[in-house]
Amino acid sequence: MAVHHGSHTDNSVHTVHPTSHGGPPRIKVPYSKNPVFVAEGYKPPVVAGRSFEYETTQENADYWQTLSLAYRQYLKKEADTRMIDLRLLIEERRSGAFRCVGCDKPMIMRELFANGDRVYQCLNGDCVKRIIRYQYQARTGRIAEVA
Ligand SMILES: [Zn+2]
Repeated sequence: MAVHHGSHTDNSVHTVHPTSHGGPPRIKVPYSKNPVFVAEGYKPPVVAGRSFEYETTQENADYWQTLSLAYRQYLKKEADTRMIDLRLLIEERRSGAFRCVGCDKPMIMRELFANGDRVYQCLNGDCVKRIIRYQYQARTGRIAEVA
């Protein structure tokens, strides 16, 4: 049996695929103990080590890659402060609008409260979506909706 020295120099079989998990593109967001706000219609992030991984659009993922860590942290803080989904904020920064989950059109966001719920409304008028509050659960290592 020959020893195949040099077989590891062929790195073409180890091409990095950003979406190798098979799902939509994801962005890694610095972990924090703050509540995580998720717009109705979006999946909550998953915990991966010291990061949250959010599924998002390819456009948002590409944009996120261009940002410095400091600016990513700033955007996360801004989303926490405004209590909105980080992805809506990224879209708003990237394109000047966000793609409404309700009508799928690029829209400007109005942030408001209704019946004690944090919601956003797009300028279509009829689209009002809840912003759901999640919290990291140290016990399970996951994030869960806050009742
Ligand atoms: Zn809408």
